[in-house]
Amino acid sequence: MKLCTLYLGRMEFLRLQLIACQDETELVTSPTPAFLISHPELGLILYDTGNSPFYGTEYTQFIRETYPVVEFISIEDALAKKGFKPSDVDMIILSHLHFDHAGGLKYFRGTRAIKNVVISEADLKNAYYSIATGNSGAYIKSLFDFEDICFKPISETTQLAPDLTLFLQESHTPGVIGLLLNTQSHGNLILTSDTVYLQESFEKRLPPGGGINKTTDEFFQNLDKIRQMQEEHNATLIYGHDYQQLMDWVLKGWVE
Ligand SMILES: [Zn+2]
Repeated sequence: MKLCTLYLGRMEFLRLQLIACQDETELVTSPTPAFLISHPELGLILYDTGNSPFYGTEYTQFIRETYPVVEFISIEDALAKKGFKPSDVDMIILSHLHFDHAGGLKYFRGTRAIKNVVISEADLKNAYYSIATGNSGAYIKSLFDFEDICFKPISETTQLAPDLTLFLQESHTPGVIGLLLNTQSHGNLILTSDTVYLQESFEKRLPPGGGINKTTDEFFQNLDKIRQMQEEHNATLIYGHDYQQLMDWVLKGWVE
């Protein structure tokens, strides 16, 4: 398989939203990534889709003020740079349905990928429940509630191929899909998505400081699970919103 990290722009907001810190005014640059996998058996797989092109109007005031988008690159443009169109994608895996992960789904309407959107069952239920009860938070219904979409929910660890496994994390939301990949050149990789935002979150065991977690218990339980997986598979971790690390991976281009 081959993996390519796509840079879809960035948000800038209080650093404490990503990691507990002393300075409550410090800002952080939070990249919006997606990952493209070209797989010999499964075809072209996209993990996450970035922000909506209509972030200025489609996002709630809360999201616009808390997580401002300062640079936007559409998933369509990022795919085009790699020589692909949305209609070339066979499967979309969403780590979860938050706005900066599901916002690019609209580019896939009318393609086969929109009929094959893998999501955690727990996150899908949480998204609709949150919206229906007036606590939408980082979920926006119009980003994913299409007539023609077909979700493929998973509720347990799912091996799509010997070198590609999806695992579920009960932190950040009730179900965030992480990826365990095996590559020739970089060995095993674990993509955590938003359960672990930064390398520093993992290494210093620092949960987010903002209001995203009800308690920090889920963060620490999940962190222990990730550490166990990392040791078991001797894996490199790729974090959810770590600017420095993601830019390094973007520069690598295709990794086989
Ligand atoms: Zn999120």
